[in-house]
Amino acid sequence: MIAIFLLVLIIQAIRYVAVRKSTFVDKLTKVYNRNYLQEFENFINLNDYLLATLDIDHFKLVNDTYGHDAGDKILKEVANTILQSIRNKDDIIIRYGGEEFVVLAKIKRDDNISAINVIERIFKNIQNKRFYINEEDYLNVTVSIGINLVPNKSRTFQEAFKLADQALYAAKTSGRNRIEIYDETQKNSNSEM
Ligand code: GH3
Ligand code: MG
Ligand code: MG
Repeated sequence: MIAIFLLVLIIQAIRYVAVRKSTFVDKLTKVYNRNYLQEFENFINLNDYLLATLDIDHFKLVNDTYGHDAGDKILKEVANTILQSIRNKDDIIIRYGGEEFVVLAKIKRDDNISAINVIERIFKNIQNKRFYINEEDYLNVTVSIGINLVPNKSRTFQEAFKLADQALYAAKTSGRNRIEIYDETQKNSNSEM
């Protein structure tokens, strides 16, 4: 009797964990979704991360030209490329909009160079990848990225996010396919890759 009771309890617990996990994971790309951000943003230690926002360039054109399913496939592969470019245990990636991602790259012992390298790796790996739309034809995809180097200077995640997003907007308006850095000492500095 007790054994059955325990078994039911264990099954319920497993089910609970699975449901909870799926609430926070995006079905298409398998990275964290917007719910994850809403639930955990106040627990993210802003001293520990560099915060970057990433948006695919001219993605609407991809959908319009090749169809929504092809767009979905590319979106999935972009997410995969990001996952392959990050440090597994340290960095966090979230799909917070249609074709927009947040990357939290861990800063270890004040070394933000390795965190910046993660973002550059993401940028370059997407740039160099062939995104196949069928067996023969592929297209190249580029992204624009805004980096907030100093999230710890913000009081809230939302504030830190906004500064990265401003840099992203600057990357878009200055031509796309580039990384723009928000750094409070320089207001906005940029680097074209
Ligand atoms: P920009 O370089 O300014 O970012 O141009 P854009 O066309 O990428 O920008 P915009 O934000 O106007 O359009 C984003 C498009 O992404 C709109 C929508 O068609 C597409 N999109 C958003 N979510 C999805 C999705 O889940 N699947 C597919 N296939 N397309 C999506
Ligand atoms: Mg967008
Ligand atoms: Mg876009």
